[in-house]
Amino acid sequence: MNRDESKIKDEYHTLVRDVFEGVVREVNSHYPAERSVRLDWERIREFDKTIAKTFLRNPQRARGSTAEAIECWNEVDIPDSIVRVHNIPDEYQFRVGKQRTIHLGRLITITGEVVEMDGVKPFAKMAALECHQCGTLNYVPQSYGKMIDPHACEGCEKKSGPFLFRRQQSELLDYRKVILQRADTNLDDDPPQLAVYLTEDLVDRIGPGDHVSLVGYYDTGRIQKKSVLQTYLETWDIESHEEGVLADRLSPDELADAICEEVEAKQDEDPSSFGADREAIIETLVDEGVRRKEVESQLEDLIDQKEISEIGGGKLMVT
Ligand SMILES: [Zn+2]
Repeated sequence: MNRDESKIKDEYHTLVRDVFEGVVREVNSHYPAERSVRLDWERIREFDKTIAKTFLRNPQRARGSTAEAIECWNEVDIPDSIVRVHNIPDEYQFRVGKQRTIHLGRLITITGEVVEMDGVKPFAKMAALECHQCGTLNYVPQSYGKMIDPHACEGCEKKSGPFLFRRQQSELLDYRKVILQRADTNLDDDPPQLAVYLTEDLVDRIGPGDHVSLVGYYDTGRIQKKSVLQTYLETWDIESHEEGVLADRLSPDELADAICEEVEAKQDEDPSSFGADREAIIETLVDEGVRRKEVESQLEDLIDQKEISEIGGGKLMVT
């Protein structure tokens, strides 16, 4: 290692042990239930402009170096952290479809509306593929989409396989595909869309109809059928992230009960005022980890069904 490299390495150690000490220790105290370390890009920039720039221009490298520095720190035990970055500069923020070729391989923020969501599925980040001829396990890193076979078997050097997928030896993670569409646009007929991938703890943090800002790695798929390329955003963080909020945490019935209970409790708390404050009810449930949009739409349903009535001034009462 030359002197420059070792100096850069030292900077990453300081970043982890000093600048983000609190964040890393907090994750460590919940590990392994939590392993996402969320870094505010502005704080990185205040500390070291070179690292901040690397996060934007060569995000995979900066992410790898940070994860390595976390793993090396002997005061915590997080061997497999997920480094997440948010609050990147305005010039890297785009509405869906405004991102350009030059942004491929970089970290950008995309804003839009969630219009489609697939279910959560296991994704083989590293696939163990067993050669049918000689039984050797070949480990092949995968990208989203078609399974990629080894170029040749490491055991018998045959290229033909066939190769069998071995789940237990593979590295799997939760994965969800979402379609993000440009919101508030004049292009009503055909608003631009972008495929977005969410993994691990991010898979149930957003829901249909949400307007979101997603920070992620903009890339092309590894298998392409046309010269005009398919692109996607691999989400690294959710900008409008409300800590602990999960989509569909409560069923519609449970949520309706929770809202009614909350309205009643607020009414009892202050008998001198009529009704409970609408915004306070919503805030309470959001603080309990329910997605704001779900609370609002369930509340509208309850008002439509006359379970709850609005008595003016943003006050609510159970009827
Ligand atoms: Zn083989």
